[in-house]
Amino acid sequence: MPNAFVDDARNFKEDNPFESMMSRFDNAAKLLDLDPNIYRILRCPTREMTVYIPTMMDDGHYEVFVGYRVQHNFARGPAKGGIRYAPDVTLDEVRALAAWMTWKCAVVNIPYGGGKGGIVCDPHKLSMTELERLTRRYTSEILDIIGPERDVPAPDMNTNEQVMAWVMDTYSMHARHTVNAVVTGKPVELGGSRGRREATGRGLLFVIQEACKKFDLKPAETRIVVQGAGNVGGIGATLLHEAGFKVIGISEIRHGLYNPNGLDIPAALDYLRKHKTFEGFEGGELITNAELLELDCDVLMPAATENQITTQNVERIKCRILCEGANGPTTAAADEVLERKGVFVIPDILANAGGVTVSYFEWVQNRMGFFWKEDFVNERLQDTMVSSFNDVLSYAEKHKVNMRTAAYMLAIDRVAYETKMRGIYA
Ligand code: NAD
Repeated sequence: MPNAFVDDARNFKEDNPFESMMSRFDNAAKLLDLDPNIYRILRCPTREMTVYIPTMMDDGHYEVFVGYRVQHNFARGPAKGGIRYAPDVTLDEVRALAAWMTWKCAVVNIPYGGGKGGIVCDPHKLSMTELERLTRRYTSEILDIIGPERDVPAPDMNTNEQVMAWVMDTYSMHARHTVNAVVTGKPVELGGSRGRREATGRGLLFVIQEACKKFDLKPAETRIVVQGAGNVGGIGATLLHEAGFKVIGISEIRHGLYNPNGLDIPAALDYLRKHKTFEGFEGGELITNAELLELDCDVLMPAATENQITTQNVERIKCRILCEGANGPTTAAADEVLERKGVFVIPDILANAGGVTVSYFEWVQNRMGFFWKEDFVNERLQDTMVSSFNDVLSYAEKHKVNMRTAAYMLAIDRVAYETKMRGIYA
């Protein structure tokens, strides 16, 4: 029987995130000499759901939005992964993101499989009441396949604590009791974890600190460029600035901001919050996102969206360390050039795993009904990120592969072992 996931993946284009994920998977699977049966299983998602979501707009007319939830793998535990709202969400993108979650949870060794969801919409054009109705109806449509033991969503691009609160409430209405462990990234008052909002950025700080130790880079002399000023980029840049690093560039979707002597990140982000743009901020020069990515720096942290470093610009990338805050910011085709240029890559499935790690802590706290202090959360996050970074680094050195390949090999090896142990002949 032909199977598109196994047979036809080579026909995809460079900017297809599913292809980006799969070609790394294939490379790692080959090096691992992965059992062909396990290879076929892990290449396919377990379940995909497409839903059509009728939503009443504020003027009384109805729009029907398309939504997805993909569950890639359950070998290690319930599926885990965010929900994103964006006009360009596609099933391929959600599929890739779901698989990335499987590998990410395995790299940091937390007991989850991978899932992801998305709704094709432009949330900036929706009112709060429209967003709430859309979210509640989407939750009702996917209700049968999510739950604390099945699949636990979280925020992603353009979704936040408020959206998670609506998902939790809708699920709880159907369950007839409060089920806060059905989503993570909730407001702290509704069972969210302290430190979750900052967790992805904090995790990035920890892995950058480890990489700097390896290259003997002192924070004050380390020039960092961050693409994206949202949850990951904004908080990551703030924590790096507080830790004494020199953040020389940051951007949001329209503009980048550059100051070779270092930006006042809290002031720049405060300005962005108030004016919705960096335009007019006096502490730096306005540049484009394309120019920002090509700045001469020690650490480049793409923390916005996919496909930012491609065959079109990779030759001009000048960083020494590439730390991937976003999921899939580098295409597979660009990897080869980075390798040739000697760029040390901290791959997304390791670098941005701080978010899912604290999501795991949130789920644990919800199931215990006992909540941890923020210092305790941050300390445990640091343990996980530092030990995972060093596990991947040792694996890379031992097998003479780069960090991305090592992270995939480590993750696939773990998921393959668990799949075999559970038995694949149902
Ligand atoms: P966000 O919506 O809070 O912020 C996104 C930022 O990127 C904004 O500043 C936006 O202006 C900018 N941006 C969006 N599209 C852009 C483009 N085409 N070019 C340049 N800038 C652009 O989202 P986020 O939660 O910070 O997520 C960013 C990335 O990190 C995504 O890839 C997401 O999947 C990934 N991620 C998020 C988390 C998390 O905990 N939020 C965890 C792991 C990975």
